[in-house]
Amino acid sequence: MLSVSEALKLVLEETVPLPTVTIPLQESRGRILRENVVSDVDIPPFDKALMDGYALRSEDVAAGIRTFQVVEEILAGSVPQRSLGPGETARIMTGGPVPSGADAVVIVEQSELIPSESQVAQVRIQVPKVLPEQNLLRRGAVSWAGQSVVSSGILLRAQEIGACVEAGCATLSVNLQPKVAILATGDELVPAGFPLGPGQIRNSNEPMLAAQIEDWGGIPRQLGIAPDHSAPLFASIQEGLKSDFLLLSGGVSAGKRDLVPAQLAAAGVRQVFHKIQMRPGKPLWFGVYETENPQEDAHRCLVFGLPGNPVSSMVCADLFVRPALRKSQGIAPPIVPALNVRLSHPFLMQGERPTYHPARIFLDGTELRVEIVDWIGSSDLRSTVSANGTVFLPPGEKQYEIGDVLGFHSWEQTDLVRR
Ligand code: AMP
Ligand code: MG
Repeated sequence: MLSVSEALKLVLEETVPLPTVTIPLQESRGRILRENVVSDVDIPPFDKALMDGYALRSEDVAAGIRTFQVVEEILAGSVPQRSLGPGETARIMTGGPVPSGADAVVIVEQSELIPSESQVAQVRIQVPKVLPEQNLLRRGAVSWAGQSVVSSGILLRAQEIGACVEAGCATLSVNLQPKVAILATGDELVPAGFPLGPGQIRNSNEPMLAAQIEDWGGIPRQLGIAPDHSAPLFASIQEGLKSDFLLLSGGVSAGKRDLVPAQLAAAGVRQVFHKIQMRPGKPLWFGVYETENPQEDAHRCLVFGLPGNPVSSMVCADLFVRPALRKSQGIAPPIVPALNVRLSHPFLMQGERPTYHPARIFLDGTELRVEIVDWIGSSDLRSTVSANGTVFLPPGEKQYEIGDVLGFHSWEQTDLVRR
């Protein structure tokens, strides 16, 4: 049986980045940038005042001059008409271009206008020392024309959108969002909100998977529940194969009515692996569907047969589907590395398989700690509600103590690995 890392390697080998699309910048939040955005201007584009005050030559103050002739007034958006000579200053507002000759701005609170009858106003500087470059930002200090400001593979948040506007963009090249079909299988399943008959349970996996897919940037397409019968299951699989990904839940273990692998094969899906050495989620199935129809573009769908038990479905989706979705969107690295976190309570591990156990990281004062939550097995969704990820526990019997370091796989979307 494959290990988790061997299986993940196979999944990622089969995953190809989706094409890109150009969209208006205003619609790009939450998408993955797929170009290197290079600024078309120096930022700021001119030497700029950072405070309201007086632009002047710092050397004049060093030479003992305190009273300056106010030769002009420069507002944000205006252009200085002249350069400053010795003993001259310009009243300047925040964001206004600093006139040539000036190398500092003295804030208005450190100045006093001298009443005068004459046309030319005078101002007295009330500070003994003015540092060169104070209260101004030189042209190109933030970035220069031709410099890369946001790189490909980055999730577009508010600040990236702002930076792309500064760089001159109105549209951006982003990933196409992967379309992900979700199909629950099982004669016992009842949709959300319906009462249960004898022997029935609710279809929690399908809406749960749809929510995970949205978290990971995909567009879920819920296909509902297929019964454990070949013909309708086959028809639903064929519908699902039109998407970029097809996630099935249930029907992949060794039961009499576990028909999913056979119907996937009948639909032309090439099996890459079935079953992995892990808990929860041993029966995971993975395969690829490819067409090279000369009339149409080649189409590729990655197919995951997720185990039916809800925690298995959720954890396998997190460990295997999420990296594939990341790679398909051009997010690097596809696998979110585990965080090393210290344990907050003792824990006795007894298990034959490598285990991804629901766990919760939390702040204990200023230290991050991980608590292994109570969990009675792969049907126990309640445990996941009090968790925010899993810890990896190697197989065997081991008593873990407070302070032991464990690898934590977060379910949260905060991406600490972005570069
Ligand atoms: P299976 O892999 O089909 O044998 O299912 C394993 C277990 O998961 C069974 O107890 C199923 O009833 C349960 N199960 C299967 N599909 C779902 C689903 N969509 N939602 C909740 N539980 C499910
Ligand atoms: Mg089933």
